[in-house]
Amino acid sequence: MPTQPNNPHLPFGDQRTAPWYGKDIVSVKQFNREDLEYTFAVAHEMRTMVERVGTFDLLKGKILANLFYEPSTRTSSSFTAAMERLGGSVIPINEVKYSSVSKGESLPDTVRTLECYADVIVLRHPETGAAAIAAKAARKPVINAGDGVGEHPTQALLDAFTIREELGHLDGLTITMLGDLKYGRTVHSLSRLLSLYKVKFNYVSPDILRMPADVIEELKAKKMEQTESGSLEKALPETDVLYVTRVQKERFEDPAAYEKVKGAYVIDPPTMKAAKERMIVMHPLPRITEISMEFDDDPRAAYFRQMEYGLYVRMALLAMVLGKA
Ligand code: ASP
Repeated sequence: MPTQPNNPHLPFGDQRTAPWYGKDIVSVKQFNREDLEYTFAVAHEMRTMVERVGTFDLLKGKILANLFYEPSTRTSSSFTAAMERLGGSVIPINEVKYSSVSKGESLPDTVRTLECYADVIVLRHPETGAAAIAAKAARKPVINAGDGVGEHPTQALLDAFTIREELGHLDGLTITMLGDLKYGRTVHSLSRLLSLYKVKFNYVSPDILRMPADVIEELKAKKMEQTESGSLEKALPETDVLYVTRVQKERFEDPAAYEKVKGAYVIDPPTMKAAKERMIVMHPLPRITEISMEFDDDPRAAYFRQMEYGLYVRMALLAMVLGKA
């Protein structure tokens, strides 16, 4: 079929020439710096549109299947909000125990079923690699919303967008990741994604929750500056972004091991006296005790704003894979 020229009436360009049209988003490794700048620009546009008109019809008539095999509050509801703000609708499958999955249906079969009804599938699954399996089975785009301890690419994209919007740039920053760096999938994705920029990483964690060696090696090969430590003291004063994570209780085989490390770090106003005045504290949430509520009113506490940026990034990603950006 001959391709049509760009339709000037479509605010985000002709879907036939849109670069992410029909693609899966499984890993941050799919993104280069140019893709990121593009995603940020679309997300920024989404922010402007939401602030101006709230809801608009860019994805009118499109359907998203939100397939969640693991608990989620923010990722699931922000994808729903994103789709609805773009005029589309959502098939929510949050409790797979009530679905055919509980009868033993395989992931490829579930995905092949849902794509008969929907235009795009968002998947959260407890096993690393599940999103890649689903993407292979489906003809329609699959977006990875977290696969076990593997990746959480949409979180990493919204985290990077948050840093950009809050601090204005990424190059030159010192990023300190704190807490459960072993099981926290968000830090695996974020460190990989930020390695597209000239940043320095400090990893601060209990010894049993250190950043996986494969991530460190991958970044080393890209000549990234990285330090590892059990203490925050040295890293905090030079930190521009303190990325705090929850100790991932559900990934521990031994509950006693979890008990030993669960309260290893607490960010509170006295601790933050040693940090810069212009820096941000982020957290993918939910937080348990690792950031004290007393810190919430500090202007450096960016974790609630971070959730809002997530809406704009997820709107951008949906529009991109559906050929409207
Ligand atoms: N919400 C994030 C995730 O799904 C972080 C967390 O659960 O601690 O990975």
